[in-house]
Amino acid sequence: MSRYLCPECGYEYDEEKGDRHLGYAPDTPWASLPDSFNCPDCAITYKTDFVLQDEP
Ligand SMILES: [Zn+2]
Repeated sequence: MSRYLCPECGYEYDEEKGDRHLGYAPDTPWASLPDSFNCPDCAITYKTDFVLQDEP
């Protein structure tokens, strides 16, 4: 599982956790999010702008 970081505000989407507030269940892969997905916190970063975080 991977995490994706919004470079603008620091919001992080964690595939393992999903995002309950957005209606994404745990283990929802990034690839399953719609192309129109944008950052729920700052609303200016689109899916393609998120940065993949390397696993520790
Ligand atoms: Zn953001």
